[in-house]
Parts: sequence; C-alpha cells; structure tokens
Amino acid sequence: MTRPSQASIDLAALGHNYLVARKLHGGRALAVVKANAYGHGALRCALALKDVADGFAVAFLDEAVELRSGGVQGPILLLEGCFDQEELVTAQRLDFWTTVHQQSQLQDIERTSLPAGGLHVWLKINSGMNRAGFDAVHVNEAYRRLQACPAVASVTWMTHFARADEPASAATARQIEAFDAATAGLPGDRSLCNSGGVLGWPHARRDWARPGIELYGADPMPSPQHGLIPVMTLHSKIFAVRTLQPGDALGYGGTFVASVPTRVGLVAIGYADGYPRSAPSGTPVAINGKLSRTLGRVSMDMMTVDLSDLPDAGMGSHVELWGRQIDVNRVAQAAGTISYELLCNVKRVPRVYTE
Ligand SMILES: *Cc1c(COP(=O)(O)O)cnc(C)c1O
Repeated sequence: MTRPSQASIDLAALGHNYLVARKLHGGRALAVVKANAYGHGALRCALALKDVADGFAVAFLDEAVELRSGGVQGPILLLEGCFDQEELVTAQRLDFWTTVHQQSQLQDIERTSLPAGGLHVWLKINSGMNRAGFDAVHVNEAYRRLQACPAVASVTWMTHFARADEPASAATARQIEAFDAATAGLPGDRSLCNSGGVLGWPHARRDWARPGIELYGADPMPSPQHGLIPVMTLHSKIFAVRTLQPGDALGYGGTFVASVPTRVGLVAIGYADGYPRSAPSGTPVAINGKLSRTLGRVSMDMMTVDLSDLPDAGMGSHVELWGRQIDVNRVAQAAGTISYELLCNVKRVPRVYTE
C-alpha cells in the first residue's frame, strides 16, 4: 500500500461554485486562482474553468505566467500589480491586466516604453481597508495620469473589503459609500466584491466580481445559504490501531490522557501535509463516514483519532480531514485560523482530480 493520503479535487464542484457566484453577483467574474488556487492547483483549476470563466485573477506575475504557459487564454489580472518596469513589459507582452494601487506603479507605467493601447489597468481605491490603494483625494489625479499614457487602453475601478464576511459590521457599507463617492462621475467598469461581498452585500455588486474562497466551496459567511460545494476533500486512512489504558498519555507532549480504555487510530497525515498542528484534541474528522474527533497532538507525518464509538473502524478505514462531511471552516475554527490558510497550506499529498 502506498501512503493513502490525498487531496481529491472535484472540478465539477468548482464549476458549479463559479456559476453560483457569477449568477448571484450578475455581470462578469474573475475567478481568483492565486496561491495555487488556494491549494487546489492553479493551472488545473483554471483550465477546468476556461470555457465558463470571464477571466482569472492571481496575485503576481509569476502566477500569471504559469497560467499563460499552460494554455490559459483570456484576461488574467495581477491583483498586486507589477513590481517594476520589467514586469510591466512582460505583463503587456503576455496580455495580462495589471493593478495600480500606488504612486510607484503609476510612475512605472509613465516611464516604461510600452506599445500603445494594450494595457488594461485596474485602479485600486482605498475605501477604508487602509492597506493598498489610492486615497480618495488622489483618485482624480491618478485617473488623469493614466488617461495620458498612450499604453493604457482602459481603466477599471477596484476596491477591496476588509470585513465583508461580517454581516453585522457597518464597515462594508461605509466602504461601498466611500468607493462610490471617490469614483462618482468617472467612466469605467467597477469591481468591489470578493467572496464575502458577493455572498453578503447585494449593494456592492457592480460590473465585475472577484470571487476566491467561495469558488472552492468554503463559504466565508457565518450562515452559509448558497449551496456551495466543497471542492477539496483531504483524506487518508488508518494504518495502525491501539487501545490506551486509563492513565496512558498519547503522542508528543502527552496532551491527551485516557481516563477509560480508548481505541485510537493512527492516520497517515500530519502537519507537513498541511493539517494544522494547532488543531486540538476534539477537532472533528469523519471515519468511514461517521463523525469522530482527533486525539492528542498532530505530528509531522501522522495524527491520532478516536475509534471508541466506532467498533467497525480499524486498519484501512477511510478518514476525511475536511471536505463534504467535515466543513473546513470547522477545522479552521478549532485550529484558530481560517479556511483560506488551511487550504493554501496543503502540500506533500498528491492532488487527484475528478471532472
Ligand atoms: C484574494 C483577493 C480576492 C478574493 O478574495 P476571497 O475572499 O477569497 O473571495 C479578491 N480581490 C482581491 C484584491 C484579492 O486580493
């Protein structure tokens, strides 16, 4: 038996989730496949979406080059933009769309000799996240300067939400208002929504959505209601079983101590594969389809689960760490993080794709 740990990737679910997102938002949607498609494999995911998606978004140039070289045509937006003039030249040659979120990127466009008319710019406005983007007072000037560059073919207005996954927060409504005020009367398409925006903020819907995490079926809202399907199932098998006696401590640090005889299964996956070491005893898992829990610390290559209530489970039993049965959000919550980080961190296990 080879090591039975895999990330199964359901590309039909990915397509389903993309269409759910675009239909909900209206207009067009760039599928965000940065960070290797949140751990799902960027090229495979982009190719699976190529006939339905209006385009793709990645963080930076190298991620976009991987997609182009792999045969992905059509728009690919660089969400962080170009880091220097050389990148700008490459971006235009490969027909990438680029973000301009600060002065130095504006200057690079002004100073680089580029063929006329090919550059599609997404001008990022700071509407309250205060991380990247032009403040409202500089918006008109930035726009005028871009318009004066012969290379620039179009300008699309973009902003990014800090708290769109918090329906009770007033921050998103304030950001929408600030964005609309800053761009009032200026021509060009608009794009506000990440997944949280698409799912929770109808007033934020404009010309383009930028859905990321929702494509992968991990709904970021507190009360999911749109039927997204988990794309990744991280799974493995039990490859050893033992029964702890009362008083026996389990694994590194002895953090779990049996108080009654406890059957424990050893699972062939660990934090080097991306399962979070910070997940405590009690984090949910599914064993042969039945709900159980982790026990003790997660090790580098293996982890331990409770078989006490599952007399039929044992050597070779299937263990789902997250997927359709175990919501990755629940594991993330137990581990003190978010689904994004868990999915991005998946490594070492083979990814196995189904259409
Ligand atoms: C990553 C990113 C997105 C996608 O965010 P999700 O929360 O995963 O939907 C959208 N826009 C920008 C600018 C991003 O950096």
